[in-house]
Amino acid sequence: MPLLGRLARCRALGLLVLLLPLCSHAQTAAGPLLTPAQFLGYKLGAQFTPNAELLRYVDHVVSHTPGRMRMVRYGSTYEHRPLEVVQIASAETFGRLEDVRHNNLKLAGLEAGAGQRQEPAVCWLSYNVHGNEAVSSEAVMQVLYDLANPQDQQMQDWLKNTVVIVDPCINPDGHDRYVNWYNRVRNQSPNAEPDSWEHREPWPGGRYNHYYFDLNRDWAWQTQQETRQRIALYNQWLPAVHADFHEMGPNNTYYFSPAAKPYHADITPWQRKFQGILGDYNKVAFDKNNWLYFTREIYDLYAPTYGDTWPSFNGAIGMTYEQGGGGAGGVAYARLDGDTLTLAQRIAHHHAASRATIQATAERHDDLLREFQSYFATAKAKPQGYYKTYVLSAGNDPGQLRSFTQYLERNQIQYGFATKRTKTKGFNYTTGKAETVQVEPHDVVISMYQPKSTLVKVLFEPKSQLEDSLTYDITSWALPYAFGVKAYALPGRLETAGNAPAQAMVRGSAAAADRPYAYLARWNSLQDIRFLSRLLQQKVKVRYAEKAFESEGQQYAPGTLIITRTGNEAMGAKFDQLVRAQADSAGTVVTAVKSGFSTTGRDLGSGTVHFVKQPNVAVVAGPGVDATAFGEVWHFFEQQLGYPLTVLGTDYLSRVSMQKYDVLILPNGNYSDVYSDKALENLKAWVRDGGKLIALEGAAKFLANKKDFLLKTKAADSVAIKKDEKANPYKALRRYGDADREEAEDAVQGSVYRVQLDNSHPLAFGYPDTYFALVRNPLNYRFLGKGGWNVGVIKKNSYSAGFAGTKARKELTDTFVVGTQELGRGSVVYLGDNPLFRAFWQGGKLLFGNAVFLVGQ
Ligand SMILES: [Zn+2]
Repeated sequence: MPLLGRLARCRALGLLVLLLPLCSHAQTAAGPLLTPAQFLGYKLGAQFTPNAELLRYVDHVVSHTPGRMRMVRYGSTYEHRPLEVVQIASAETFGRLEDVRHNNLKLAGLEAGAGQRQEPAVCWLSYNVHGNEAVSSEAVMQVLYDLANPQDQQMQDWLKNTVVIVDPCINPDGHDRYVNWYNRVRNQSPNAEPDSWEHREPWPGGRYNHYYFDLNRDWAWQTQQETRQRIALYNQWLPAVHADFHEMGPNNTYYFSPAAKPYHADITPWQRKFQGILGDYNKVAFDKNNWLYFTREIYDLYAPTYGDTWPSFNGAIGMTYEQGGGGAGGVAYARLDGDTLTLAQRIAHHHAASRATIQATAERHDDLLREFQSYFATAKAKPQGYYKTYVLSAGNDPGQLRSFTQYLERNQIQYGFATKRTKTKGFNYTTGKAETVQVEPHDVVISMYQPKSTLVKVLFEPKSQLEDSLTYDITSWALPYAFGVKAYALPGRLETAGNAPAQAMVRGSAAAADRPYAYLARWNSLQDIRFLSRLLQQKVKVRYAEKAFESEGQQYAPGTLIITRTGNEAMGAKFDQLVRAQADSAGTVVTAVKSGFSTTGRDLGSGTVHFVKQPNVAVVAGPGVDATAFGEVWHFFEQQLGYPLTVLGTDYLSRVSMQKYDVLILPNGNYSDVYSDKALENLKAWVRDGGKLIALEGAAKFLANKKDFLLKTKAADSVAIKKDEKANPYKALRRYGDADREEAEDAVQGSVYRVQLDNSHPLAFGYPDTYFALVRNPLNYRFLGKGGWNVGVIKKNSYSAGFAGTKARKELTDTFVVGTQELGRGSVVYLGDNPLFRAFWQGGKLLFGNAVFLVGQ
């Protein structure tokens, strides 16, 4: 199916999905409703409950509450555990749950018709996004029992105007990794001594999902299966309130809203106010029980990646709850203050906060729905911000455009297509300047005059707004940079049409011919790497052009894939079918040509056209390796490319015979305990023998300054750093406690830099002469000396316009970022920053793909 025809169909399908719950059942069961203790055979807090057992209890409660509760299975995890929510209403509402859902979408203006503000408000409670913050999935059993219990008069009163949606475990894979480990190592009588191994989770810990992604950094990017499935359901409902239950270090107390500053400028006055209202409800319960807590510290509302901010930018009151405990907590933990923190206490706190949230939703129902409606109405009629239109050039790579528009659809962001050529003023993301830009017919146009304009603004605006610039260095997640696409932000509005003409994926003079001489595929994006990876696995012979050339009137840049009939004759007619089908499904345009002659540049049979050998790839994982960085590589190969990958554990790495492997990837990590001097010599011998070593971030740093490696560090300019710390009095505040977001802080400090590329080198094929990198750590490398290729460097003033960050700006100048060196018959690729960061920085993926598939071939 042609690209844009498919897009139109996807959108229609998206609407269909919206209307149909995935699966639900409500069978009744005999016997009484059991408490968690009666059902499990132990009191809540005596031990952790594995996910399957939790879901059995969920089933028990739902089946004993007919006419008021239903379970909806919305997907499954990578390890095939079910993902479910329970939807709870009063008996009066239950039969009309679908009406409530539609009403919500009508109130938001995402469905035609007038929404009714007297309908129930939707309160969505999410537990256990971080698997080792496992108290959540214990507390939720008590919450579900309360919701079901007809004797709980308070709860039944609140349900009169509230629909509660409970996700008992967002991250079952991580939860079970933690719980199964803990139950295996714990003493029969829990040992509160923090030294005991039941308080020391082994690598990689239970926080992450199967691919070691932090699902609470994925709400906005939706790179993970769990997130995509959840967001699809979330967008069918659009709750008015969303609470996300977490834990922090065991020496902390309890955190509830109001959140800490900074708030994103687009958090509305009402959302700010309700943060305080929720705090008032919570403090009643906590004060009554003399429980310690804190508010307005650490947990802010800024970056859109979290379970509080993402819902906030989708019209909800979003909030985080944090209990002291987490992976170190176990069943009992001896705190520094001499008290013992028990699992039972932790459960009681999250249980109380859950009830307070439902109560607040019920008692402030009228305000909530009035403000919910007004949020979207204002967003549509009077969108915030200087820019009123965002434009993606139709000239972008078709595969990239496709993945971009699919992202918009997943997030209910409406878009259209430009109808005519328009010259106007706007911000050009590529140049980083306000200038005259030319919109072309069929460019993708996203107008701010739509219900989700706040989300659009947060995701697109070139410069994110902070209310307190002292607190944070600024970051950017602007989608055009993340996707690496040509785009503009315009202050004016544009006329659009609903569709653009379909584009053929197979083009060129010989497109209709049975037997073209060759197919040419431009090399621009992740989709093109996927195309190559599939062809290689189907044993199709593929070459790439090292030099630019012109064929049949079209210019081709270095990196262009050349798939000739010669060499693939054995496949017969299947050859053409396969290339065409793979191009269509990967999202790559291929051009069929009749001749191997190039009008300019090298012919298709030139010695500068290189055969791509199918590489046998291995990656290192285990203690010493940064789990999330490894997970990004793992996910890239398995889920994004569908390419085989062998994972080698650090504990036996030195005994592996490396001769089988062509490529070895060292993700970010600390390798000093992984590679002894002798092991490093063996590694070098493998490279000299023709191996290709790809070292990312900390791995590159590990190799730096070592014998035979050309990467060298500069002496650090520590004066600038100290000065900067003095100038920022809140720096220390940000490190307080075991803040769940310390990691996020690093990301927030990540900044977009313009890296100057030598795109005549295979490592930078497919890029213009710059690349927008999300640099998260100061890089401090000299340019590679003789024998090395400085493929990507940051020169002076490479900070992208408007992206502040004084500390990084001082440090990051004239530094090597990415490049290669030869060593014997092999090569070393240094990737100083991480082009696969959280899998959302689409613009970096080609760089990594080049390193794996093209460099050294
Ligand atoms: Zn957490």
